[in-house]
Amino acid sequence: MPWEKAGSSMKSREPVSKCIHIIDKLDRIISVSESWLLFAQENQAGESCHPDKIINRPIWDFIDGDETQQFYEIILKNIRTEHKTVTLPFRCDAPEKRRYLELKITPIQQENIEFASSIIHEELRDAVKILELGIARSDKLIRMCSMCKKVELSENTWVEAESAVISLKLFEQSKLPQISHGLCTECFKLGMSEFEKTFT
Ligand SMILES: [Zn+2]
Repeated sequence: MPWEKAGSSMKSREPVSKCIHIIDKLDRIISVSESWLLFAQENQAGESCHPDKIINRPIWDFIDGDETQQFYEIILKNIRTEHKTVTLPFRCDAPEKRRYLELKITPIQQENIEFASSIIHEELRDAVKILELGIARSDKLIRMCSMCKKVELSENTWVEAESAVISLKLFEQSKLPQISHGLCTECFKLGMSEFEKTFT
């Protein structure tokens, strides 16, 4: 592995493989690329990333949080009526990695829509335990932004997960809280400005 030091930067793999999935006009997933499955596998999704468990399922099963779903509903509706492509930045972090991606959502034939995401940049960090899958969780909830993966400390204050661990003293707790998803103020604004640029 050429990257060992926590916090160091690295370029995304070359050539950048795009993860692609396509939904039909009823928002059901009708195809996923090999790279999409590999990426899901690498991120410990395990069995749930087998094509049999994905094909024909509504895209909404894979988008966490009401606000994020509403946000995508508006975007998809407009993409279908206006036939325009929307590009959004988002994060898909692993416990030990900040991963910056770009998602391109493009209308294709028969009201189908293609989602193509590619990694723009990755940064290593000390593993953030709260992002690990399959660990015991308490009944407490913390809110994470679906797009930038920041955690809400108080109203309108969102910080990186590693800062939240310190501010909320999560390392002192025997069980970590559960994560619910929402949209932070900045991502909501950014999304809306992208939306207006494209559709108005
Ligand atoms: Zn955000």
